[in-house]
Amino acid sequence: MFHKTNMKAVVFSEQGGTEVLRYTDVPKPTLDANEVLIQVQACAVNYLDIHARRNRPEIAAKLRRGDTPHILGSDIAGTVAETGEAVNDIAVGERVVLAPCIPCGVCSDCHQGAENLCDTQQLIGFQTNGGYAEYVKAPAQNVIRIPLSLSFVHAAVMPIAYLTAWHMLMTRAQLRPGEDVLILGVGGGVGSAGLQIAKLAGARVFATASSEEKLERARQMGADVTINYKARDFSEAVLDATDGRGVDIVLEHVGAATWEQSIASLAKNGRLVSCGVTTGNIGTIDIRKLYQKQLTVMGSALGTVSELRTLIRLAGQGRLVPIIDSTLPFRCASEAHTLLENRQNFGKVCLCPATEKS
Ligand SMILES: [Zn+2]
Repeated sequence: MFHKTNMKAVVFSEQGGTEVLRYTDVPKPTLDANEVLIQVQACAVNYLDIHARRNRPEIAAKLRRGDTPHILGSDIAGTVAETGEAVNDIAVGERVVLAPCIPCGVCSDCHQGAENLCDTQQLIGFQTNGGYAEYVKAPAQNVIRIPLSLSFVHAAVMPIAYLTAWHMLMTRAQLRPGEDVLILGVGGGVGSAGLQIAKLAGARVFATASSEEKLERARQMGADVTINYKARDFSEAVLDATDGRGVDIVLEHVGAATWEQSIASLAKNGRLVSCGVTTGNIGTIDIRKLYQKQLTVMGSALGTVSELRTLIRLAGQGRLVPIIDSTLPFRCASEAHTLLENRQNFGKVCLCPATEKS
């Protein structure tokens, strides 16, 4: 059988602005025995892709090794195109999504099912080549089948944004029905996912965004209280809306720019859960308030494969319909990055081999 050995991909050989991204021909990946080749049908864009393209040192190190240009893309759905010789439980043609991390599989974290804490895990599209391409390879253990009811685009947005928000709210903060949750930056990937998950779990949702348009979208998606953080201090708005009580949980992914307001928004026994920073990574805390109000500050790192399976099941049942801002062809990857960089999106931005939706 004839196999073409090249494929189209979005690549870059040096870090920089969107101009470094090139849509070109590169060699198609070749498989080890335990790997599968996925024909990519949809690949979601994450803010991490932008950091990787600009300046993340892990990518600089990979580029310095100089084997190939880098291919971004950690959020991948597609069809199985080939399987390695040791893979016998996955068939060519199956519709799948990829768990984004490749854990070592032997450390104590991996053994306890906390592979998101594995010290030597590799993120597909970060430490390895990813899904901004016609084909991507991954270990067979990363493959999760998706039901016919779930489109490739909807499946592709689950592994990073939805998994991150799920792990933050459900696993780490232990969200209970009836609690008040503050979602920062509700237009972004984690923010919009957090809004949907918090509503699904029976919370009252407070949401911040930078424009009335985004806040209107958030209200349509079920946000109960919306706050324009450009117009006023959002912690004051939260305290006003709760008669001075504050919220039970703050979903933090912004960092230094919002940290103090996030802490100030918490009720007694409140939990702040952080999954990352898009502004500075140093924040201060008033320790007296921390203990007097019995606050908890917790970190959250992506999520586990079993949580991802739960999300795929919920999405397949139509109980969680992901918010998609736009779907663009691969050759428009730089436009997709610009959308995120300028925070013009509400929900996820997805790349596809063609412009069709699934
Ligand atoms: Zn491990």
